[in-house]
Amino acid sequence: MSVAPDYPRTLTIDGAAVETAERFEVIDPSTGRPFASAPSVSPVQLDSAVRAADAAYRTWRRDEPARQKALLAAADAVDAAAGDLAAILVTEQGKPLRDARAETYAVSLWLRYYAGLELAPEVVRDDEKGYAEVHRKPIGVVAAITPWNFPLTLGMWKIAPALRAGNTVVIKPSPYTPLATLALGEVLRTVLPPGVLNVVTGPDPLGASLTTHPLVRKISFTGSTATGKKVAAAAADDLKRVTLELGGNDPAVVLPGANIADIAAPLFWSGFINNGQTCLAIKRVYVHESQYDELVDALASIANGVKVDQGLVEGVQLGPINNKPQYERVSGLVEDAIAAGANVAAGGSRYDRDGYFFRPTILSGLSDGVRIVDEEQFGPVLPVLTYRDVDDAVVRANDTMYGLTASVWSDDPEHAAEVAGEIDAGQVTVNAHGSAITPDLPFGGHKHSGIGVENGPWGLLGFTEIQVIAGPSRRRAPD
Ligand code: NAD
Repeated sequence: MSVAPDYPRTLTIDGAAVETAERFEVIDPSTGRPFASAPSVSPVQLDSAVRAADAAYRTWRRDEPARQKALLAAADAVDAAAGDLAAILVTEQGKPLRDARAETYAVSLWLRYYAGLELAPEVVRDDEKGYAEVHRKPIGVVAAITPWNFPLTLGMWKIAPALRAGNTVVIKPSPYTPLATLALGEVLRTVLPPGVLNVVTGPDPLGASLTTHPLVRKISFTGSTATGKKVAAAAADDLKRVTLELGGNDPAVVLPGANIADIAAPLFWSGFINNGQTCLAIKRVYVHESQYDELVDALASIANGVKVDQGLVEGVQLGPINNKPQYERVSGLVEDAIAAGANVAAGGSRYDRDGYFFRPTILSGLSDGVRIVDEEQFGPVLPVLTYRDVDDAVVRANDTMYGLTASVWSDDPEHAAEVAGEIDAGQVTVNAHGSAITPDLPFGGHKHSGIGVENGPWGLLGFTEIQVIAGPSRRRAPD
């Protein structure tokens, strides 16, 4: 196997480039073939990464202005490297270049946002009886673990607030997409003090090794609910702090009388964002029976016109599915749905070419109780379901162990907002889906979609411990 010279080769440990004895292959999902390799960290090297983070923590935690300055320098460094980072992302993740650039843009946006966010102590009491203030202290070494759909954005949702609060980080990306995060490490080790951010890669067992390291004091995990439960169990044993951003089965409810012509395109792209491989993508649509055919036809017509190809091809809108197991899973869910009586309004099959390309698929004629409706498909397939009564649609939207995001679509935004309040999810948006993903708004799931939130001041607080400093009154007695 040849290794392209432009792909990152090294881990970042204690500010230095570190080679490993073992490497593993990275597959280009547009060909299904390896195109590079990534370092496989050894247990000794992993230990040294966590120890480096622990050592750096002792000074990093003390100088808040230095941290703010460093995050701004990090943002500048990412902006300068954005073209290279995006190109790596296209090849290992499969997404179109435009989407990869949006991801690198989000990285520096998050760094700048957290650089500017204040974390001042809150004075709760200041009277003659005494003085008490609540401080937010960093926790220590943070293990950040990310999935393969948005490696850079989701990594930075952890790195920026963790570092801003005074923690240090060891990040481990998915073995399907290790390179962009390794490259990020190469960029940031030029501007951050040694040990503050360490990047390690390796096959899946590395996640468990990292979460059980005794010097790790907080785990910030994004991934599937199944793995999240294992992470929670590992954290419990050592009472490590934990934030879990997990799976979703996000419903969209279209209220009777909605203007289908207006909403079809935003609805479609909210389901197919990043080829449906997005935790907060719409995973099922409920539409009133009077408008069912109209919406299915409109979505199918958009799906049939989408340009699907390798991410660097001019005008490409969707790339391949990221990896073979996911490609097999999506194919299997569609076959299962067809066997259960689904009508394939658009797509429904793989492309006859190398790589993991699947046609954007709209399924109709299904009810709840079929896997594609009840499970998280995480791919380019959207089932459209019919309802008669809005209350029933809300009950069905909520009939899941997930609760990440949802949306309600209507010509009457006030009514839609009322219905939105009935849906049990961390973010529910009106006439848009996923539109509340900004650095300043909290994002997190209810039920099995997670514990805790990321982003905004709330996300920052998740990387802190509370400390009360209290004592006698600081007021001077009147002369
Ligand atoms: P995954 O759970 O298979 O893997 C996620 C990460 O966990 C990877 O880095 C993996 O190597 C690591 N890992 C595997 N076993 C581990 C263990 N025992 N301990 C610690 N880490 C371990 O998920 P995936 O397939 O990479 O990503 C897709 C899933 O992520 C979907 O369910 C999606 O909904 C979810 N997701 C959630 C959010 C969110 O913010 N809520 C965002 C993106 C993706």
